[in-house]
Amino acid sequence: MKITNAEFIISAVGPAQYPDDGLPEIGLAGRSNVGKSSLINRMIMRKNLARTSSQPGKTQQLNYYRINEDIYFVDVPGYGYARVSKQQRAAWGRMIEAYFQDRDTLRLVLLVIDLRHPPTADDCTMYDWLTHYGVPVCVVATKADKISKNHWQKHIKQVRSTLGLRPDIPCVLFSAETGQGREELWDMIVKHTRL
Ligand code: GDP
Repeated sequence: MKITNAEFIISAVGPAQYPDDGLPEIGLAGRSNVGKSSLINRMIMRKNLARTSSQPGKTQQLNYYRINEDIYFVDVPGYGYARVSKQQRAAWGRMIEAYFQDRDTLRLVLLVIDLRHPPTADDCTMYDWLTHYGVPVCVVATKADKISKNHWQKHIKQVRSTLGLRPDIPCVLFSAETGQGREELWDMIVKHTRL
């Protein structure tokens, strides 16, 4: 995939602000700080388009990035921030569920988890939501550079069993640091969007 253009479009707080040009969307879900922004930046080979380490509380929107006039990456606000109130969490849940349930242009969600640790309860809930709504999922196990190569398979196995991944759901090893997994992920995206 040759990236000729990538730009931030909007932080949408609700459906009225979602783009209406019908381009296919790739959602990115995962807990805060897991590495979603870094993944987006690595995928498009830009250092800083997606903001890394965003502030809690400022992440209650869907951030739309348009790539090549072809697709959107949609950064779904991270879950698992202890500092947000119960009310904010509930509002976040409603927004995300509505997005997964109703967004016709959503083609694939990359569920980003940290390869170093077993998926959290929030990761499991997110996976269950996505499968419940019939959204195609690809798990991305990031920060692979932080683990020695001979432990990768053991960790992948743990990710698959903790999430209860169906055998047909792919799980891609990734590193925003080294670029590992980038091509595989682009192939996956192209397959789901027929670019
Ligand atoms: P976000 O909150 O999910 O968008 O997470 P960020 O992309 O801001 O990443 C959180 C932190 O993890 C930052 O300090 C990143 O530099 C670091 N990080 C993200 N991805 C990787 C990776 O693949 N390898 C390493 N070593 N660090 C990473």
